Amino acid sequence: MKFPRVFKFRNVEVITLHELGVVIEIVKKVESIAKQNRLTKIDTLVLQIGELSSMIPRYVKACYPAAVDGTLLEETKLKIEILPGNAMCKNCNKAFNIIENKSICPNCKSEGWTLLSGKEFMIKEIIAC
Ligand SMILES: [Zn+2]
Repeated sequence: MKFPRVFKFRNVEVITLHELGVVIEIVKKVESIAKQNRLTKIDTLVLQIGELSSMIPRYVKACYPAAVDGTLLEETKLKIEILPGNAMCKNCNKAFNIIENKSICPNCKSEGWTLLSGKEFMIKEIIAC
């Protein structure tokens, strides 16, 4: 029983490090935007994360306090908006959610589609005090 526990712990740590690196980059970008606009305090940072993105919202939230520590964003609240993984069917032109429909068009059962949204990871809004 000892081995799986260690394995699980290491796995979680690797995923969190991936998120932490990306969140640190975002914090740097927000700090430079704030400096350009002479903002001294930011109330809320709003991020958009697609359902199909490699970024996992709960890990982003978990590593956020470490990423903002000692920065201009130390007191800034984090808000995450999830964007749906939507696709357009190439056969019947209907838009549908890929995850809910397991990548198959619910209208005509076609597996040919074009991705509309869901891979995003971006800054949506910086709300100043
Ligand atoms: Zn279809």
